This record gives sequence, C-alpha cells and structure tokens, in this order.
Amino acid sequence: MKFVGAHVSASGGVFNAPINAVAIGAKAFALFTKNQRQWSAKELDTKTIDKWFEELEKSQIQVKHILPHDSYLINLGHPEAEAREKSLQSFIGEIQRCETLGLDRLNFHPGSHLRKITEEACLDNIASSLNFAIDATQNVKMVIENTAGQGSNLGYKFEHLAYIIDKIEDKSRVGVCIDTCHMFTAGYDIRTREAYDNTWKEFDQIVGRKYLMGMHLNDSKPDLGSKVDRHDSLGVGKIGWDAFGFIMSDERMDDIPLILETIDETIWAQEIEALYNLVKKP
Ligand SMILES: [Zn+2]
Ligand SMILES: [Zn+2]
Repeated sequence: MKFVGAHVSASGGVFNAPINAVAIGAKAFALFTKNQRQWSAKELDTKTIDKWFEELEKSQIQVKHILPHDSYLINLGHPEAEAREKSLQSFIGEIQRCETLGLDRLNFHPGSHLRKITEEACLDNIASSLNFAIDATQNVKMVIENTAGQGSNLGYKFEHLAYIIDKIEDKSRVGVCIDTCHMFTAGYDIRTREAYDNTWKEFDQIVGRKYLMGMHLNDSKPDLGSKVDRHDSLGVGKIGWDAFGFIMSDERMDDIPLILETIDETIWAQEIEALYNLVKKP
C-alpha cells in the first residue's frame, strides 16, 4: 500500500502539520519541527507536545509515514571544524525534537564541501558527524537525501550515499530518501520503463533497497543531468507522469512516506488523488 502526502506547513505549531495533511487527503506528511532558516528554536512546550499527539491520533497517520526535514542551515560536512560543530549541535537538537514528538526518522541533506576540501574529505566529515549524532541520541533514523548536485552539495551520486552508509557504525540508524527531481537532474533517468528499471537496479546494487525510507515526489523544471534543483508540479516538468505511475505501481515503495514538495501547494490535494489513481488495481 502507498502512503502519499506533502511537506505541509507547521506554522503556528507542529500540531498544525497533521491537520494540514488531513485537509489535503494525505496519508503521509513531512514537516519542519522548527524554523528551517534559523539556528535557534524555542523548546517544544508541554501544551504543544500534547496537542501534537492529539492531532496525530485524530489524523490516523502513522509515525513511519512522517518524514521530518532538518534545517537548511546545517552542513554536517562543513570544511571548517567550528562551523561543522555548530551544525552538529543543531542537528542533534533536531533529532531530540523528533524523539520528543515520537518520530522515528529525520531527513537531511548530506552536506557541502564549499570548494575548500575534496569530496571524499567532506563525505568523511558527514559520516563522522553522523556517528557522533547517533551515539548522542536514541532510535531516530538518519535519512540521507540524494541531491541534485547543485553548487558543492554532495549526495548526487548513489556512490556518495553508499560511501557514507559504509562508514556508519550502527547501520540500523541510517536510511536514505530519494527525491525524484534531484535524482533526475543528477543524471538518473526514470522517464521510461527501461530507464526506471535501470536506475533502480543501480540503486539496489550500490546503496541497497533496504535503506530506502522515504521519497520526495517532484517533477523537474531543468533537464536530465543539469545538476540544477528546481522542482515542478507533477506531469508538467521534464520528468512527466509515466515515472510517477511506475513508482505508484512499484511495491518496493510500499509503506514508506512518499512526499510532494511540488511548487503549487494549492493543487496538492489533486496531485495526491492523481497519484493514488495511478496505483494499478489487481
Ligand atoms: Zn527533497
Ligand atoms: Zn529540491
């Protein structure tokens, strides 16, 4: 069974995320548990936490179908130790917020070398940051997102994801989230049956299917391999509807959060409905 939703707003309080998800017919959702453009965050108070659990229960959305996203400011691979430490502390704070909210996974972008260190040194920084964060916390899985490879962002090759996972001591605490727009602009084609199958075969061989713990479903404004990260509404970008049909009838994507981050949130309800209509009835 598929669980589709969107990255909904949590403004006014995290409890608004499940409310906003239900309003668009979502069975999954993503959220920021704090302002994604600020380092600091107010601690979650008891009233907010109670209301979160109340609204979550009402929504009937399961924890494993929620994919919180960390702050955009965090760079676990930062070339400078001091800045990397700031990111790491903020990242641990994000994991603790997830723990408080009873969430089981946290989605993050791996990191950027800022053209000051090699890709390999940056990936080593990311892995050691993750090992530290895993030691300092409990249960929450670190879900590494693939990127488009824009600027100096790493994670645009399956090999980058595999390299990081390989260096994680407790592999039960790590997973990956594949974003279709990022995948496509990084050079992985999914537009035809053959291309889709080849891309996922490569993923299975290099990363391993068991690590797939969520997806971001986005069409792409830029072309295949452009390394530019610009999402589009489903079916109107360069990827097209076929790829989303392959995903919705692929049982390997069962039971994980499938999250829209498409650009027009006024049509999320229609996009979710259209995706469910693509599920092949037996
Ligand atoms: Zn994404
Ligand atoms: Zn993106």
